[in-house]
Amino acid sequence: MGKWKTNADLDHEYKPSGCSLATDTLPRTTRSKRKIEVAEDEKLRKLQPVVPPPKIERVEEDYGHTVFPNEIWDKILIHLSKKDLRSLSLVSKSLRILTNRLLWAEPNFKPTKHGLKGEVWETLLHLPIRKLRSPDFFFKRKNDHEYIAEILSQMPLLSEIEVCQGKWKSNRITMRSLRVLAPYVKKIKLDCVLPDNDCTRTEFCEELAKIDFPNLKSVTIPYTVLPGCYNTMHSQCGKEMCVHRVSRYRLEDFQLMKHLPITELNLNCLQPEYEVLDNGLCYFYPEEPYHFPQIPYLLQMKSLNTVVVNLFQAVSDDNLESLRELRDKNGVNLVLVFIRNDRLLEKLKV
Ligand SMILES: [Zn+2]
Repeated sequence: MGKWKTNADLDHEYKPSGCSLATDTLPRTTRSKRKIEVAEDEKLRKLQPVVPPPKIERVEEDYGHTVFPNEIWDKILIHLSKKDLRSLSLVSKSLRILTNRLLWAEPNFKPTKHGLKGEVWETLLHLPIRKLRSPDFFFKRKNDHEYIAEILSQMPLLSEIEVCQGKWKSNRITMRSLRVLAPYVKKIKLDCVLPDNDCTRTEFCEELAKIDFPNLKSVTIPYTVLPGCYNTMHSQCGKEMCVHRVSRYRLEDFQLMKHLPITELNLNCLQPEYEVLDNGLCYFYPEEPYHFPQIPYLLQMKSLNTVVVNLFQAVSDDNLESLRELRDKNGVNLVLVFIRNDRLLEKLKV
């Protein structure tokens, strides 16, 4: 914005000199005559007192641009693209503060295999960051947990961390890292939290249940990937802690997590009780209907709103009944993906 103009300045601007349209209507003057006129104008202008600009009342939080408070600026700037916001942020310090509120509220960092180190976060502490994701944090070194906890305590606006999938498997976090992020965690996708080595699902749930999540609103239990699970000759079979028998969720695991808001669950995460043959192999027939005690328990999960029905295992009639009740009485959305037997599909169809 330019300097405040005096009245003389304003009048001068409206003089049609130099405007081709107006020259025809003006009386012709010689060049020397015009020179004198300009000089006289100049004199007049110097004589007139400079009128001070009218005082504008400003909202205190405003950065001197206009009478708008930040909230109104937010409503205007929200219509701009990221690119335009970035350009606008170069105009002035005040506009940078305003544009940063939008550019940095939920920053999307370029994916890295292990997240950003504490040293990088230290350079970002002046920014108005509100939401972050678990893959954004680097937890590999000995003192990183304390370091990141300290960094987080210096972000006064941070109110939300989402524990979610990153681009790489290495973006999953350990239970120890989850403890650091816990005060801010709003959403968790449980397969993004790594169980400790040789830990059963029950031990995992016990650890999880000990953590306090004051802001947690949603927990998703996705499809549990078990390589070789449906091949009874799988190399891990025969070992006492075969992944087939210990990696998925049992009834007691859900009971351990009953204080957590589980909103979405894939039926594939349910642990069946395998029979173990004399040779140590997990005995498993997917076509034989199996009764999961976890399925009727789903009716007690008050936060549950989506169940993905992705079952390689045939289930009992009672289980089917519970699933129908879940849909018809509790209003849970059943997403039918894959079902072992046609009978199940027919019964779950509306
Ligand atoms: Zn096995």
